[in-house]
Amino acid sequence: MDRSDVTAFVALGANLGHAAQALRGALEALNETPGIRVVRASSLYRTAPIQSTGPDYVNAVAEVSTSLNAMALLDALQAIEHHAGRERPYRNAPRTLDLDLLLFGEARIDSPRLTVPHPRMRQRAFVLVPLAEIAPSQVSAAQSSAVADQAIEKL
Ligand code: ATP
Ligand code: CA
Ligand code: CA
Repeated sequence: MDRSDVTAFVALGANLGHAAQALRGALEALNETPGIRVVRASSLYRTAPIQSTGPDYVNAVAEVSTSLNAMALLDALQAIEHHAGRERPYRNAPRTLDLDLLLFGEARIDSPRLTVPHPRMRQRAFVLVPLAEIAPSQVSAAQSSAVADQAIEKL
């Protein structure tokens, strides 16, 4: 790791079906992107959608080390989402892969395309539980207990 490389955290989510496969494929694609190395990935978790009915989600969080700046990292995440979308079997199929940039080093970013830290991450068990698994220092006990009512299970 270069001294200039930044540690960032990415949330991965997908609908059930081939969701687990979509997440594994996304981790591979991330790691194969020039300037991005996946340092560790959490277990996969199953969560019910918040404030809606519908299929369960599979979620995970990955720690990456990157030489890209935050905007270029977002570009890479969106390219991977787009690629996953193109592989859907029919037109306008629901999005099957969501990659959110949670944290980018210590950066605070507030631009039209990118807000970091991700503004809703602290409200979501499907982010905090996998994040705490791989980076316990990033999640306080109070933050964990604030989302303890949200059902989540390890796959
Ligand atoms: P949520 O952000 O609440 O999880 P979502 O993931 O469903 O919602 P999207 O439709 O995937 O939302 O993204 C909408 C826009 O959010 C993207 O086009 C992107 O430019 C912007 N965005 C802002 N901050 C971030 C971030 N930290 N990570 C990913 N996208 C972001
Ligand atoms: Ca999201
Ligand atoms: Ca998103």
